[in-house]
Amino acid sequence: MSDVDTTTATPDDRAAAAAARDLGRIVGEAHVQAPVTQSELLQDATETRGLRGSALAAVHPGSAEETAAVVRWAAEQGVPVVPRGGGTGYSGGAVPGMGPEGANALVLATDRLTGPGEIVPEAWRGTFPAGVTTHDLQRRCLEAGLFFGPNPGSAEACFIGGNVATNAGGPRSFRHGSVRAWVSGLEAVLADGQLVRLGGNARKSVETLDLVGLLCGSEGTLGVITEVTLRLQPAPEAALPVLAVYADREAGLNALAYAMASGVVPTALEFLDGGALRAAAATFPGGLPDGAAFAVMAEALGTEEIARIEADALAEAISEDALRVLRPTTRSEVDEIWRWRDGVSLSVVAARGGKLSEDVVVPADRLGDALSAIDRLGEERGVEVTSWGHAGDGILHATVMVDRDDPEALRAATDAAHGMLDIAFDLGGALSGEHGIGLVKRDATTRLDPGVLAAQQAVKDALDPKGIMNPGRKLPPR
Ligand SMILES: Cc1cc2nc3c(=O)[nH]c(=O)nc-3n(C[C@H](O)[C@H](O)[C@H](O)COP(=O)(O)OP(=O)(O)OC[C@H]3O[C@@H](n4cnc5c(N)ncnc54)[C@H](O)[C@@H]3O)c2cc1C
Repeated sequence: MSDVDTTTATPDDRAAAAAARDLGRIVGEAHVQAPVTQSELLQDATETRGLRGSALAAVHPGSAEETAAVVRWAAEQGVPVVPRGGGTGYSGGAVPGMGPEGANALVLATDRLTGPGEIVPEAWRGTFPAGVTTHDLQRRCLEAGLFFGPNPGSAEACFIGGNVATNAGGPRSFRHGSVRAWVSGLEAVLADGQLVRLGGNARKSVETLDLVGLLCGSEGTLGVITEVTLRLQPAPEAALPVLAVYADREAGLNALAYAMASGVVPTALEFLDGGALRAAAATFPGGLPDGAAFAVMAEALGTEEIARIEADALAEAISEDALRVLRPTTRSEVDEIWRWRDGVSLSVVAARGGKLSEDVVVPADRLGDALSAIDRLGEERGVEVTSWGHAGDGILHATVMVDRDDPEALRAATDAAHGMLDIAFDLGGALSGEHGIGLVKRDATTRLDPGVLAAQQAVKDALDPKGIMNPGRKLPPR
């Protein structure tokens, strides 16, 4: 906490000092920053797009009760609250100071909401504080013989609270659903500072409106999630990926169709187009065959026997016209394939020094149309485009590869990225299938049905009448 010289202090200095004093009383002085000294608290993964904010203060409550007291203080003072998890978001939702709040935002960091949680193996249930990283949670579940299906690529750094707030997905969401499908209960602080429990330990409940569902994917606009109760599954014995590459897109799209018709529900059904494949060629297990222009990856998961049978069926389905099919059997071979897949995004960045990626989604049967339209867009705008993603769910990480240090190229890339949103929309898809709307796609939401937007705004107004929870994110400007 800093002392303020009353003769030279600006109104901002005085506001920061008052916040530090009041919040310090709630959480302890050591857990308040006013001004914010830890610069990471002012950004998220959109930093690569140049998003970086400012804030009145940052506060790190150590319990749900302290979180509630902080939000009550903010509601009384009219200070906008920007909840923060691991800061891995791709939509700018946790970047303070970029919405209507200006520099007056309070960053509410959930990194002290940690602890062992509770796992009840016989009920396939786990309850975890919001600040536990997804990787840690996955590990703890596995140690108890249980499994948490969603596997976002950021698992080492993102928090389960952030996963719920964004309704995160990942490759395995094709079979296992996004995070919402795994949540039976939440503890959350609403905009007036009230601490509530929604849902609970029972795997199913229809006694209220689906308030758990409402908070999943709410991106901090309806309250702060402090604890999450998950309906888990028994840990699988084996996860067997199958990876095939093709000389052209048509063969790859056919393979996807054969996989869908195989009768097996793969946990993941992924694709990479030629650009992404070339960018990630250096780490392709065993070396990328000459002429490879499309890749399909499917995963079977279950007991040793079931995973083997399903992997056989998937391999047969995607082998026709393949240049090469990889069937890993050992743990290290499996890990090598997933390491390669998880590294695709960074490989694409490395190719040109930067990228602008959208996480658009189309109906799965329109994936080929989306890829063709994205190619045409790239040609028309003179930018290099590529896509990869979760074919089963129709999610494309539609990307413009760009040199970040070239302002002209960056402008053209930004325009082209907006065009990708139009493509998804025109094909009956959605602006975001994974990362959310946050700040970066908020203006694009004005094209949604006005009736739907009005209903959404009515929910926001009912639960947050003062509009203090992450204002200017997710919902379009009034
Ligand atoms: C390398 C990489 C790979 C990724 N892969 C995937 C992927 O496969 N699938 C996917 O879906 N996403 C992916 N993401 C995006 C990101 O990791 C997810 O959106 C993740 O769920 C964000 O969690 P977080 O804890 O980092 O949240 P943050 O970035 O801190 O916040 C995200 C949003 O949630 C809100 N929020 C955070 N915590 C809370 C809380 N406790 N209560 C209320 N609101 C809260 C914030 O205000 C913000 O609006 C990836 C990101 C990176 C950098």
